[in-house]
Amino acid sequence: MQKNEIARVTIEDIGVNGEGIGKVNGYTLFIKDAVIGDVVEAKVIKAKKNYGYARLMKILTPSPDRVEPRCPFARKCGGCQIQEMSYEKQLEFKNRKIRGNLERIAGFSPDLLDKVMEPIVGMEEPFYYRNKAQFPFGTDKEGNPITGFYAGRTHDIIANTDCALGVSVNQEILEIVLDFMKEYRIASYDEKSGNGLIRHVLIRYGFTTKEIMVCLVINGKKIPRGEELAERLKKIDGMTSITISSNMKNTNVIMGESYETLWGQGFITDYIGDVKYQISPLSFYQVNPVQTEKLYGLALDYAGLKGDETVWDLYCGIGTISLFLAQKAKQVYGVEIVPQAIEDAQNNARINGIENAKFYVGKAEEVLPEYYREYEKEHPGEAAHADVIVVDPPRKGCEESLLKTMVDMKPEKIVYVSCDSATLARDLKVLCGEGYQVERVRGVDQFPMTGHVETVVLLSKLKSTKSIEVEIKLDEMDLTQAESKATYAEIKEYVLKNTGLKVSQLYIAQVKRKHGIIERVNYNTGNGKAKIPQVPLEKEQAIEEALRHFKMI
Ligand code: SAH
Repeated sequence: MQKNEIARVTIEDIGVNGEGIGKVNGYTLFIKDAVIGDVVEAKVIKAKKNYGYARLMKILTPSPDRVEPRCPFARKCGGCQIQEMSYEKQLEFKNRKIRGNLERIAGFSPDLLDKVMEPIVGMEEPFYYRNKAQFPFGTDKEGNPITGFYAGRTHDIIANTDCALGVSVNQEILEIVLDFMKEYRIASYDEKSGNGLIRHVLIRYGFTTKEIMVCLVINGKKIPRGEELAERLKKIDGMTSITISSNMKNTNVIMGESYETLWGQGFITDYIGDVKYQISPLSFYQVNPVQTEKLYGLALDYAGLKGDETVWDLYCGIGTISLFLAQKAKQVYGVEIVPQAIEDAQNNARINGIENAKFYVGKAEEVLPEYYREYEKEHPGEAAHADVIVVDPPRKGCEESLLKTMVDMKPEKIVYVSCDSATLARDLKVLCGEGYQVERVRGVDQFPMTGHVETVVLLSKLKSTKSIEVEIKLDEMDLTQAESKATYAEIKEYVLKNTGLKVSQLYIAQVKRKHGIIERVNYNTGNGKAKIPQVPLEKEQAIEEALRHFKMI
């Protein structure tokens, strides 16, 4: 197909970001805002050899899963991607996305996934869920200040103070700020010229405490008549904190490096479960508190703590998961790269009277290996051990060196919380090749109306110190993949008949692995440390002969 060509397309699939996918004579088109089941007219905007991107022009026959979006700007706005899809279908799509990645990238079998995947956790009310919003300010054609959201992939502002994902008080606050700007002729910041004052308004709302924070991000040091603005804002019920953050740099970074309090205190308080958190304008804090509580509850449930465990929480942010776990563990260690977040974490531990959580600043992939090495130095012949390791990395997932140290610490359980199921799948493949097996997987929809989904996974260590236990585990392997052309029993029988040798399942698995037949996730490689008997040469050759016979190699 060519650019600007117009085609009639039936949408048959959904892409990773929720876009519709359809085919025209074998040529694949990705069409934003088209819903699976729609028949649409679309115009090609970018044509590659085998696939292209097209703009939705007209819906010829709407899909039964198409719904009227709650927000009139849903299509234009970059904030939501799939508001036109019924919520039920959104959940289905996200679940499929997780499953697809685990199958394709991690190489898990459909049978295994049927066994371990639990139904995705959705929201009862999938709107108005965000506790934080950052509104950019701009100027319309008449020269009036406006605020709203960026249109997808641009910095054009769509004027809208009533976002369907945010809390309703946002609108009240923004209208006060806009009126104030008009009254005193205070201009919005202009990215191109670098002129103007008001860049962004950050609003945070404590769902449990009903406390509100407003932080004005400005291209300057002061807001003229700032006290008067504060006077107006503080009349809003729940207003707790009004601050200014100065950002005079010409960058896309929203917040300045620090903030000053204009009125009230510099933070608000909120709860997740029973744990209290102080949140400043610069703190990272999960944006969907209702789902976060479910997510952490799940992580805690997967960790299965009894009270005497040592737990590591890597990528701990302000210690949210750490403090949740600390209530049920003997000792928790948190690691996080942002020093300010660790300060918050320590403060949060203190205000909750939690004394069994210790935090380290640094990269997880440096702090943990260093801890491991130091421990060995101080305790010769002994290795650092963890009972449970929780990781919650950013989208890029974990460094392989970190995964290695995690395995070396031989935790009984690893709980992996992920915001990108593709990198999750990549990392799980590594862990499952190192003596861990997947027990439970569950999606949590932290971001309804967008293509994002969070996943929690429980991995447990395969017993590997005694070969007999290894054999039991190998028995449990489901043999549904291509590797299973002949069963272990058939191979054993063949070898016995031909050579008179008795070979174990473990030995067969080792030979299969040598030939790259086994990509099985729950095959135990023994991680090089446990005493697993290795197949003797004679038996190896006999097994190879059998594999050849069954055309497996
Ligand atoms: N578990 C926390 C935060 C998860 S977000 C919570 O739920 O609130 C991921 C965190 O990882 C961020 O706080 C980010 O600053 C941090 N981070 C990013 N790269 C890191 C690294 N290499 N080592 C440690 N922390 C890192």
